[in-house]
Amino acid sequence: MTTQPVTRAAASIPPSEMPAAAPKISIVIPLYNEEESIPHLCEALDAAIANYGQPAEVIIVDDGSRDNSFKLLKEYAARDPRFTIIRFRRNFGQTAAFAAGFTQARGEVVITMDADLQNDPMDIPLLMAKVDEGYDIVSGWRKDRQDRWIDRKLPSMMANRLISNVTDVKLHDYGCSLKAYRTEVLRHVHLYGELHRFIPALASQVGATVTEVPVNHRSRQYGRSKYGISRTVRVMLDLINVWFLGTYSTRPIHVFGTLGLASMGVGVLFGMYLTFVKLILGESIGNRPLLLLAVLLVVIGVQLVTMGLLGEMITRTYYESQNKPIYVVREIVNDFADGADAG
Ligand code: UDP
Ligand code: MG
Repeated sequence: MTTQPVTRAAASIPPSEMPAAAPKISIVIPLYNEEESIPHLCEALDAAIANYGQPAEVIIVDDGSRDNSFKLLKEYAARDPRFTIIRFRRNFGQTAAFAAGFTQARGEVVITMDADLQNDPMDIPLLMAKVDEGYDIVSGWRKDRQDRWIDRKLPSMMANRLISNVTDVKLHDYGCSLKAYRTEVLRHVHLYGELHRFIPALASQVGATVTEVPVNHRSRQYGRSKYGISRTVRVMLDLINVWFLGTYSTRPIHVFGTLGLASMGVGVLFGMYLTFVKLILGESIGNRPLLLLAVLLVVIGVQLVTMGLLGEMITRTYYESQNKPIYVVREIVNDFADGADAG
């Protein structure tokens, strides 16, 4: 279904203008209700690809737009077979749109950007220069960001600091959509929810090298932003998620067990103290708040340890049901094993 526009266009296009077998770059763009910017976007992409000078494909993922976006995109793709349009049945979100684009991409390198032209496609050679230096991921850094300070730049600045510290992948601008990824590393990154903001951190967990370059940024000229300040809370929750899965997903008992044992230990100490007060000093302890706290700590501790054990069982189901390795191999030299899979 997704290949229809291209196939139809191909009939009217001479073989010399057909898309090359495997493009060098695949530009992936999630798009939701951006009809006003589409003509400008397509024009800018065309110019940027010509400027870059290597074979490229553009994959625009229409994330269930309710305006004229798909119609415009389809018209454009009918004229230019380098453009592939994937249309979602409903709005699944920017992360899902990225994931669909990554699956479709045939290029060696995937470049992502927004559809609203806040990013400048002319920056592609800047990113590619770093990829050619050997980095797996190059993140754009909107050094001179053209957005409001109070609800955009300030929360973003704090979030970037926090994410950099927690994930240990130091970037100034996780939120910038303009990024380049070696397609190979994306195969190991599984996206859920709104995790597209964390792709550099997730990819780094499977061994990708990450760097950043300052890029152009413009204020939104067409349409409206799809996000409000409420995303800050979701970003924080996602950060806990990424940190936990990255560090403890194969050993949840370590996180829950440590907390549980600490809680139990303190509870037992309080309990011993209260036993001493009751048995040796002969005082009544029935009305002491400390008794309640001691009991609470022990119960919470037992629950946390149990949760850790449940986590261990879930981890086994997760990895073993899909034969998922707990490591990622870069390459094997002299690999003589049968049915070896270097992935
Ligand atoms: N977008 C999308 N699905 C959504 C929300 C946004 O595909 O549910 C696209 C949107 O069309 C744009 C990009 O994701 O191309 C970034 O969105 P936006 O510009 O609204 O975010 P901001 O730049 O304000 O952070
Ligand atoms: Mg934008």
